[in-house]
Amino acid sequence: NDEAVVAVGKSPTGLTPVLTRYWAEEQAWTLDAYRRHGGYEALPIALGMDPDAVIAAVKDSGIRGRGGAGFSTGTKWSFIPQGDDKPHYLVVNADESEPGTCKDIPFMLATPHALVEGVIIAAYAIRARHAFIYLRGEAVPVLRRLHAAVAEAYEAGCLGRDILGSGYDLELVVHAGAGAYICGEETALLDSLEGRRGQPRLRPPFPAVAGLYACPTVVNNVESIANVPLVIRNGVDWYRSMGTEKSPGFAMFSLSGHVTTPGQYEAPLGITLRELLGYAGGVRAGHRLKFWTPGGSSTPIFTDEHLDVPLDYENVAAAGSMLGTRALQIFDDTTCVVRTVLRWTEFYAHESCGKCTPCREGTWWLVQILERLEHGRGTEADLEKLLDISDNILGRAFCALGDGATSPITSSLKYFRDEYVAHLEHGGCPFDPHLSTLAA
Ligand code: NAD
Repeated sequence: NDEAVVAVGKSPTGLTPVLTRYWAEEQAWTLDAYRRHGGYEALPIALGMDPDAVIAAVKDSGIRGRGGAGFSTGTKWSFIPQGDDKPHYLVVNADESEPGTCKDIPFMLATPHALVEGVIIAAYAIRARHAFIYLRGEAVPVLRRLHAAVAEAYEAGCLGRDILGSGYDLELVVHAGAGAYICGEETALLDSLEGRRGQPRLRPPFPAVAGLYACPTVVNNVESIANVPLVIRNGVDWYRSMGTEKSPGFAMFSLSGHVTTPGQYEAPLGITLRELLGYAGGVRAGHRLKFWTPGGSSTPIFTDEHLDVPLDYENVAAAGSMLGTRALQIFDDTTCVVRTVLRWTEFYAHESCGKCTPCREGTWWLVQILERLEHGRGTEADLEKLLDISDNILGRAFCALGDGATSPITSSLKYFRDEYVAHLEHGGCPFDPHLSTLAA
């Protein structure tokens, strides 16, 4: 009930398990389990409101997009033209694939109905009659769970014609992509959904004006949509009682890597990594934190200097990075920063869709240079070349993939230039035990 949710929301432990609070329950993914936890109670409330009032509530709550960029969800909905004769669409971006990001997939696996209820309310608010969930194709168990949840929702009268007797109709389609990172970029996702090769479109026009089939479309992340029923049921004040003024609410923080207890930690925005590490048992025994990503590998890395930066959009930006997807990848003192950055860059080069030259060519060259540095074949001039190529990609690529690819490079050179130089002096990776033996 509401009381329980509010109590959990203000948990003295500092964590706020709201979306994650009954993940561990048996059969948590069923309609019955969802209803036991207040599921589908927000739906009749929303359907009894004017669609504009639902948009206003979401706007007032201050929910910011949980897919990485942090754009105001309610504001995005309000861009959908009113009184036009084109169909409107809601598309859920469930193509989670940013390295380190692993929240939407387990969320949908554990409690798919929490997403489905959010979809129905969001689609009602923007006056859409068709909604799509674009899921990462490899996540086959999630696909099955979503299909089952959608079927249960139709059966219960929560989807289809005349939902709960309100006169509102909605068809929801779950679509599996084919596993391309670029299809998480919203316009590439729309191209893919229309049946074409997924490549980004020029923005503007933003999807809110011309999206799916050139019609007004809201594209929202899974976690953003899952927040909506909670706001409708518990109210704006409840939501705003957590987080900060400009970054209200709670969010999933995914801790991975060299941490004692990796996993999802749902907490108010503004919590610090130091606090989160307290819940996660700290960096693995006998080691110290070396560097970490606040929001996945396309956000500039942080070091142990940043343990107390409040993890909200403003403070992370002021400290020189981005909150992104709150994918906190933890690396201890045994990790070679050059090797890590090389691995990430290989990913971006592989996933570059090839549409624009700065990203297609630039990421390829970045890999060549990082590879020779890591293997002791680099020169001092290569360090400047990395920065120069990054500068030529940043702001010149067609979409955020290119910009993101430069973040680990420029930030690692800022904090760990010495380690790059050590590779030059050592004739290879100082962390490579084989090479160290040879060097000795
Ligand atoms: P963006 O800031 O350009 O846009 C964010 C959202 O706001 C989009 O939906 C966009 O349509 C909307 N928007 C922005 N300005 C608008 C305007 N003037 N009018 C109407 N709508 C507007 O960011 P982006 O390029 O969509 O996304 C980049 C982010 O994606 C990165 O920060 C990264 O963290 C994240 N990312 C996430 C994943 C993942 O797996 N979740 C993968 C890769 C990247």
